[in-house]
Amino acid sequence: MASTTGSGRLAGKNAIITGAAGGIGLETTILFLREGASVLMLDISTAALTSALEKIHSIYPSLPTTQTLKTHPCDVSRESDISAAVSLLDAWGGVDIMFNNAGIMHAQDSDALETEEKIWDLTMGINVKGVWWGCKYAVMSMRKFGKTRGSVINTASVVALVGSATPQLAYTASKGAVLALTRELAIVHAREDIRFNALCPAPLNTPLLQTFLGTDSAKRHRREIHFPTGRFGEAIEQAHAVLWLASDESGFVNGTDFVVDGGLTKAYVTPE
Ligand code: NAD
Repeated sequence: MASTTGSGRLAGKNAIITGAAGGIGLETTILFLREGASVLMLDISTAALTSALEKIHSIYPSLPTTQTLKTHPCDVSRESDISAAVSLLDAWGGVDIMFNNAGIMHAQDSDALETEEKIWDLTMGINVKGVWWGCKYAVMSMRKFGKTRGSVINTASVVALVGSATPQLAYTASKGAVLALTRELAIVHAREDIRFNALCPAPLNTPLLQTFLGTDSAKRHRREIHFPTGRFGEAIEQAHAVLWLASDESGFVNGTDFVVDGGLTKAYVTPE
């Protein structure tokens, strides 16, 4: 059991996290609360939000009156869902931090020949359009409430930086788009003091990938061998990076592809 003090590195800030019931999103919610933020958790799965909330309550049985925690079902690929969710923060004084983190990697996503158009469109709808809507409504909220020091973090992936012989073409293209749009928005909004950074995680120990790999040890080994550290990353290791990018401590970090990968994208031959 832990407690939040209402003070901390994000004290007084209002944050929205999408995909908040999943691996990275939930760990980030827990850290943001510890550091004094109010958090609106968005996810498409109401059941997952309920169990995420149970976990949070077991860690923080109560929050200081200065902090609010709320969950809300939201499909990030639908503009109306994002618009409605962001407007919930009007009552809190607007958005300071937007973590556009929801994403999918579809089991039928494959190479250029095998990937079906419907899988491409579904992936782009969530992974790219969802990030666009999140950025759009976060900026509108920050402007409406005269925010300075806004921080938007968009989850991309290392596959936006390096090619993979285990293809998921739609996913890879979607994450490349996240990097490009994040970089551009970082420049467009720099004079408003709204920062945009992309997070590039390596393959992780979260349901998104681990469900896909299942008990297939060959599939698993195909990936593990490329890790200098010999292991998948953990969601909490991503969450710590997100916390820093969200906080004013990273105030001069803008438009970056923030890579948290245990050295994966810098490796040629890894240790045996
Ligand atoms: P996860 O599957 O544990 O969590 C993703 C969450 O997003 C789930 O709770 C899911 O319900 C939610 N979600 C899915 N579609 C949604 C939608 N349309 N609207 C709102 N919520 C939706 O995955 P994770 O590993 O925590 O992934 C988070 C992000 O990190 C994703 O963008 C993913 O692409 C990225 N990423 C993951 C890995 C990895 O290996 N796990 C590596 C690189 C990047």
